[in-house]
Amino acid sequence: MSETDKDFTIQNYLEFLQNKKLMGTRCKTCGELYVPVRKLCIKCNSANMEWVEMSGEGELAAFTSITVGTPYFIEKGYDRNHPYCFSVIKLKEGPMVSAQLVGVDESKPDTIEIGMPVKVKFLESTIKGETKIDLGFEPK
Ligand SMILES: [Zn+2]
Repeated sequence: MSETDKDFTIQNYLEFLQNKKLMGTRCKTCGELYVPVRKLCIKCNSANMEWVEMSGEGELAAFTSITVGTPYFIEKGYDRNHPYCFSVIKLKEGPMVSAQLVGVDESKPDTIEIGMPVKVKFLESTIKGETKIDLGFEPK
């Protein structure tokens, strides 16, 4: 079974991420693109999908600086004095994805500009001895 025959599940999407690949699915019927993946096209109800790799380029559509994080981010070392930035990125290919934004000054949100070009940055972290890759973006 080749990589691109994988089922269109979030689990496989995350598995691609672990290999530093940002993948989406494209509806072969109408061309609509989905990131993260969908099995069914919400535009035309087609289940005729294919995997496509994203360029990883896009622009910042929205963001928020988070000082009180989820347990996962607290585990990664973020807190009130070390906030993290959560963003929505509009990919060059069209879909919007949410991800952590790095390489910015999280404590000075007014220095972060909506519309600024960003590129994908795969964030590696080790929690309890397990290395994991999360989707992130950084200024281009
Ligand atoms: Zn479709």
